[in-house]
Amino acid sequence: MSAIADNLNSIRATLHPDTTLVAVSKFHSENDILQAYQVGQRIFGESQVQELMPKAQHLPNDIAWHFIGHLQTNKVKYIAPFVSLIHSVDSLRLMQEINRQALRCQRTIDVLLELHIAQEDSKFGLTTEACRKLLISPQVEQLTNIRIRGLMTMASFVDNQQQIAAEFEQANAFWQEMKQTHFADNPDFNLRSWGMSDDYLIAQQHGANMVRVGSAIFGQRTYNKQ
Ligand SMILES: *Cc1c(COP(=O)(O)O)cnc(C)c1O
Repeated sequence: MSAIADNLNSIRATLHPDTTLVAVSKFHSENDILQAYQVGQRIFGESQVQELMPKAQHLPNDIAWHFIGHLQTNKVKYIAPFVSLIHSVDSLRLMQEINRQALRCQRTIDVLLELHIAQEDSKFGLTTEACRKLLISPQVEQLTNIRIRGLMTMASFVDNQQQIAAEFEQANAFWQEMKQTHFADNPDFNLRSWGMSDDYLIAQQHGANMVRVGSAIFGQRTYNKQ
């Protein structure tokens, strides 16, 4: 069996039955993706539109493609026809554009709101306050072709496991709050996407039911590939 298949199987052995594994294939080849596909993996995560497009075109069409990177509004139109879940929604403007493109394709697009919890400065993600505000905005209710499925977050890039656990716990508590306040009657709001290669086990202990694992499956990424 290939190293990729081995890695996948050992990760699967550590996941709860209700945890969904997103195999993050950014910067890895179509052949690498096929190796994971051959041992049953069907959900792959990509972070750049220009990389996702050819992969989606060439690879089997029963793959569910998740978009996990920062998404510019002017690129939504490319992925709208086929994307299965967008993890990184962090503004009303982006939601409106996803909704517009979803309407154009006559489909409903599933999204997660990206929460910014980590200590690090990042331009991306909503603070809890911004997320509360967004969800009470009447404009969000008009977005008929978007389905808000839950929250996504990333922990701080630190070694301190307690800090990482505390951040995931904060995301988990906030998810519960949003569930009670806005989605109590909506079973579609059921996803908590946190945890990557180095911290997916911690994430799983603190509420994650979707983990996004890249290098632990595919190996280190080479960012300068031609
Ligand atoms: C790259 C990436 C991952 C996967 O990271 P690994 O450390 O390789 O597991 C997960 N989530 C997001 C948002 C990413 O950009």
